[in-house]
Amino acid sequence: MKKSLMTSISIVLGCSILAYALLTQPSNKTKPVPKVYSEEVNPQRPAQTINRVITEKITVGAIGDILIHSPVYQDAFNGSQYEFDQMFSNVKSLLEKPDLLTANLESTLGGIELGLSGYPTFNSPHEVADALVHSGVDIVSTANNHTLDKGEKGILSEIAYLESIGLPHVGSFQNEQDRHKLRVIEKNGIKLAFLSYTYGTNGIPVPKGKDYLVNLIDRKKMKEEIHRAKEASDAVVMSIHWGNEYQRFPNQEQKDLARFLANEGVDILFGSHPHVLQPMQWIERADGRKTFVIYSLGNFISAQYGDYKDIGGLATVEITKRVSEQGKTVELSSPAFYPTYVTSQTYNHFRVVPLEQAGSAGLKNADAKYDEIQQHMNQWLK
Ligand SMILES: [Zn+2]
Repeated sequence: MKKSLMTSISIVLGCSILAYALLTQPSNKTKPVPKVYSEEVNPQRPAQTINRVITEKITVGAIGDILIHSPVYQDAFNGSQYEFDQMFSNVKSLLEKPDLLTANLESTLGGIELGLSGYPTFNSPHEVADALVHSGVDIVSTANNHTLDKGEKGILSEIAYLESIGLPHVGSFQNEQDRHKLRVIEKNGIKLAFLSYTYGTNGIPVPKGKDYLVNLIDRKKMKEEIHRAKEASDAVVMSIHWGNEYQRFPNQEQKDLARFLANEGVDILFGSHPHVLQPMQWIERADGRKTFVIYSLGNFISAQYGDYKDIGGLATVEITKRVSEQGKTVELSSPAFYPTYVTSQTYNHFRVVPLEQAGSAGLKNADAKYDEIQQHMNQWLK
């Protein structure tokens, strides 16, 4: 994100709005988008009557799976501690493009106390979260098929760490009250509500009476939460874990669910789980607005390679809010995709690099790959 010293986040619980300031890392890149005031003359009204319009804009972005296989955390160990920042240093400026950035935390960050592990039940060092904050991530989605890999202990340890460093999270929760709190982040005068759901947890049962531990896809529950989120924000953003692994196109279930969520009021859908990229699309809604969906963001960092599993990227979309005497309008525009590639040297030296620069990192035909990926991602956008 474009960092400012203060990003305000409101947590909305029932009718009470509790706003507090969230401190983020200072950066020399502070460039808040200025408020744009314009005056438009309304021809329907007397000439001297001026209709004041306040226009606000932000760019929202998302990256895909942060999937910390054992070679990745072993590579991050410097002899005394885990340090992941260098893995993202080549894409730091890219990740500063959006004003607000979300990532899918695919592996549980339960920390070393619970015993680190890779595939098939992941438990990663807490320090992954520090690197995400340093790279510009503003909120992480934690509902996915690995949420219960380290059970309730893993979730609670992860949440405690995320809260200790001030990184907002959504998708798995400490208790029912925590689950009910909407994560609403305000930036440049625009309030965004972030929601997160997953299709399942790899067959690991959710502990009895503790449904709050992970948000499972359930149309009735989602509908209720979307409607609450709409009331409390200007736009609703949902991270969703769905689809078939290693499929480069969404299945019918994803398409149907996307349409349902769009019609209920989700404005932006950031999909993940297939580990490869699936295209972006606009969905026209019954209420005249349109929803931006990216069916799968692929892996942002992992130890998977080949067959498109080492290609991910940043997806962004602009949100414009106009407020006048006639009311408020919110419009989405300018979707963009910036492909990235994970390079490593025999399971060492993991780095995420922009795909167009991957040639120097050893990827053959990087230019052609870049064109192919852009074509793949943009093929359904008009
Ligand atoms: Zn997954």
